Amino acid sequence: MKMKDSKMVKGNVAIDRDRLWSDLMTVGKIGFQQGHGVNRPALSDADIAARDWLTKRMSAAGLEVRVDAAANVIGTLKTRTPRSQKILVIGSHLDTVPQGGMFDGALGVGAALECARVIRENEIELPWDIEIIDFSDEEAAYNAGTVGSRAMIGQLKPDEIFVSKAKGGLTFADGMEKVGKDPARIGEAVRDPKIFAGMLELHIEQGSRLESEGIAIGAVTGIVGIYRYIVTVRGEAGHAGTTPMHLRDDALVKAAPVFTMLPQWVRETNGEMVGTIGQVTLEPGATNVIPGVCTFIVEVRSMNASDMVAVRERLKSWAAAQRNVSVRTIYEKNSVALSEPLIDAVIRAAESEGVSHMRIQSGAGHDTQSFAPYVPSGMIFIPCKNGKSHCPDEWIEPDQAAYGCRVLLRTILDLAE
Ligand SMILES: [Zn+2]
Repeated sequence: MKMKDSKMVKGNVAIDRDRLWSDLMTVGKIGFQQGHGVNRPALSDADIAARDWLTKRMSAAGLEVRVDAAANVIGTLKTRTPRSQKILVIGSHLDTVPQGGMFDGALGVGAALECARVIRENEIELPWDIEIIDFSDEEAAYNAGTVGSRAMIGQLKPDEIFVSKAKGGLTFADGMEKVGKDPARIGEAVRDPKIFAGMLELHIEQGSRLESEGIAIGAVTGIVGIYRYIVTVRGEAGHAGTTPMHLRDDALVKAAPVFTMLPQWVRETNGEMVGTIGQVTLEPGATNVIPGVCTFIVEVRSMNASDMVAVRERLKSWAAAQRNVSVRTIYEKNSVALSEPLIDAVIRAAESEGVSHMRIQSGAGHDTQSFAPYVPSGMIFIPCKNGKSHCPDEWIEPDQAAYGCRVLLRTILDLAE
C-alpha cells in the first residue's frame, strides 16, 4: 500500500477529541484522591501504575514500547521509508507533585500518544521515527527533577540519583530498583543529541497570561532558569520549658531573617526574577523542643543567570557570617531559548487551526529545557483554569486539550515537510 505523504494529508487529518479526553481522565484517576488531587510522585506505586497504563495504550496503538536505562517509557512509531536516521521526540511526564493536578505533564504525554495514533491510522509517512516519551521524575520527587530527560541528553551527574532532598529519604536510585532498573547503568540512557530531529512538548501554561489575554496557544520562546539550594542551620535542641532564653541556640530563630531577606534580594534585581522558600523542616520538630536543626530550600527563577548568581552570593555571604550554617547547591539550571524555526512552526500550526496565539516565556521548568541546548526544541502552551497548577484545582476543558493536540499534530506535520 502506498503511504500518504505528510503534505498530502495535512488538510484533513483529525484527532479524536473524545479518545484523548478519555485517556486524560483515565490516567488522571491514577493516584487521585478526592480533595487531595493527584499524588503520583516519580516511581511511586501510582506512577508505576500510570506507566503500565501508558505502556498498554502505546502497544495498543501499534508503537514499539521500551523502558530505557533511566526508566523513561518510550513508544516508537517507525517510519517505513526513512529519508534520514533521525528521531522526533514528543514527550512530557506522567509523574506529579504531591497533591498535584491531572494535566501537568499528562496532557503532553496523552496528546503525543493521540498524535502518534492519528499518524498511524492515517498512514502518514514521516521523514523520521517518532518517539513518544514519558520522562522520569520531571517533578523532582527525590532531588533535582527532569532526571529522565537530562539522563537521555547526557546532562545528569551520575551521583545525583543517590541523593535525596530529605536526610535518609528515598532516592531516584531506590525508585529505579522498584522498576527493575540498575542505578549503576543509568549512563546507558545517554543518546547522541545529533540523532534527534527535534523535541516537542505540549503543556499547560501553569500561569494565567494566556487566560487573562484570551489567547488559545502560547508558542514558547524560552524557559526560565532555576537555581535551588538546601540551607542547613544548626543550633542546639533543648527543653522548651526549662532552657532560659539567654542560653538558647534556636536554629529556627537563626534561620528566620533569610525568610524575609530573600524576597528583598530578589526584588533588588531587575524585576522579572522570583524567589521562594517553599519547604522548611525543623528537627527534632516538637512543640516542646527548641529546634536543633532548621533545613530549608531556597529557589530562584530568572531568564538572567547573573541575577540568580547575585542572589546566590548574598545567600552564601549571609551563611558565612553565621555560626553552623551551610548552603549546598541542589542544582543550577540556566534559562534556555527555544528554536526559532520551531516557534514559527507552532505559530503556523495555530494559524492553520484558526486559533489565537502569542509568543510566551515559560516560568516553569520542563523536560524540553534539558533538550533545548542540544536539540531544536519547541513547546506549545494552552491556558489552564485561573492559571492554577501543581494543585488539585488544576483544570482544562476538553476542547482546550483537543485544540492543543491539533496544534501539536499540525506542528509535527509542518516539520515533516
Ligand atoms: Zn510539567
